[in-house]
Amino acid sequence: MSQAKPRSPSTPHRQSQGGKDFRKRVQRDKQHPDKPVAQSVARVGAASATPCITLKAGREKSLQRRHPWIFSGAVECIDGAPKSGDTLPVRDADGKFLAWAAYNADSQISARVWSWQEKEVIDKTFFHRRIAAAIAARRDLGLLPSPASGRGAGGEGGGGTQGSELDHATLSLTLSRQRERELSNGARLIHAESDNLPGLIVDQYGDVLVLQLGSAGAEHWRETIADILQELVAPVCIYERSDSDGRELEGLPKRNGVLRGTLPEQVVVVENGLSFALDVAAGQKTGFYLDQRDNRALTGTLAQDKDVLNCFCYTGGFSLYALRGGAKSVLSIDSSQEALQLAEANVTLNGLDSSKAEWQCADVFEALRKLRDQNKKFNLIVLDPPKFAPTAAFAEKAARAYKDINLLGFKLLRPGGLLFTYSCSGGISDDLFQKIIAGAALDAGVDAQIVNKLHAAADHPVLLSFPEGAYLKGLVLRVA
Ligand code: SAH
Repeated sequence: MSQAKPRSPSTPHRQSQGGKDFRKRVQRDKQHPDKPVAQSVARVGAASATPCITLKAGREKSLQRRHPWIFSGAVECIDGAPKSGDTLPVRDADGKFLAWAAYNADSQISARVWSWQEKEVIDKTFFHRRIAAAIAARRDLGLLPSPASGRGAGGEGGGGTQGSELDHATLSLTLSRQRERELSNGARLIHAESDNLPGLIVDQYGDVLVLQLGSAGAEHWRETIADILQELVAPVCIYERSDSDGRELEGLPKRNGVLRGTLPEQVVVVENGLSFALDVAAGQKTGFYLDQRDNRALTGTLAQDKDVLNCFCYTGGFSLYALRGGAKSVLSIDSSQEALQLAEANVTLNGLDSSKAEWQCADVFEALRKLRDQNKKFNLIVLDPPKFAPTAAFAEKAARAYKDINLLGFKLLRPGGLLFTYSCSGGISDDLFQKIIAGAALDAGVDAQIVNKLHAAADHPVLLSFPEGAYLKGLVLRVA
């Protein structure tokens, strides 16, 4: 892991000081630090000037379409002596204001937009407003417990259900809210760029919030953000999982630990009535894949009497839904022993029939080949692999991997069988994914129909001006 170089605010940035000019560092190839990458270098502005980013002529178009990223290649000049995380005005080549953005000296994304309004002040009030809006949107969509019914994204309280004056309608409303609260207590509260908070992810698991900071701007406001979350949600713990690989690309050190409160010994998220124990400190991402909530539920409704194969099962998400849905058998495969241990414990936690569940610690690519060689067949297969292509640059290699597992998946299905296949790779478009799957079916010699197109749950919205937010794509295929 590359540690961000310590930089004092007084670090000189003038061109005459050569290598010490951090504005030039971003332009260099990480593998070959002496070789500038093939793009023009931002002109160095006056260090004494008011900090400001000026774009090259014609490079304001994507900002005008409200895409929140400013790539280093679009920057003509950076005035002043800004530090990573500072909020700077962004101007077009004629000096016209475009946005307020968080600067990052160490990333190919030189800045990420906080606001399009010149009058906006980027301060605690701004973040309070944006965070409260993101939480309110989830509440409006029925994704959170109502504010009147206990803590969790809403504060204390609770309509008593006793009281003789309580009329029937109030009672049934209270009960349905109670049921709703019991059914799910996890949600993504903030989905970064798509909630107009670039780089900030917050997942709620009951009384615990897990925070992930993926940009210099979000990092700069870390304490403020934690204060606001504490005030608005009152969790027992805010845990920070700022340890994704993306942090390195942003020149940020990895961080993993308690930010506020105390982490309970066991964290359990309830999803559609199923409980999942999770490991927020060492699990994948923030500990759980909330994005697949609705897709897991759909799998559960189609699992009755089926032999199910769940590949890349993690803590058992799709497997538990299949077991609850009446599957005849569920074979689950993952390469992480820790994840499988939690998955098995989750079967017990939910009182499900463990005799129908088999867990295999293996590489899915190899395990699928073995199952094929053993002539095993299934009625329903889930393929939910990790991100094979973080960016388009990895698309070709990723395409081969997707084709491989899907081809094998098709071969393992009985006639009439269902394949739930996913890609969470930002570098693979919907179209490309569908083409890969079509190629896999062809090579497997099966006829298949798409019966459903799937995506992330509603608490992972996609901002129209930021299509990169639509990272998760899924297809449900039925073989003839
Ligand atoms: N479907 C899961 C999430 C899957 S995350 C859910 O609903 O919660 C991807 C999983 O793939 C991780 O658990 C990781 O351990 C596993 N994994 C990654 N590479 C693998 C491989 N080659 N073989 C088996 N499992 C793998």
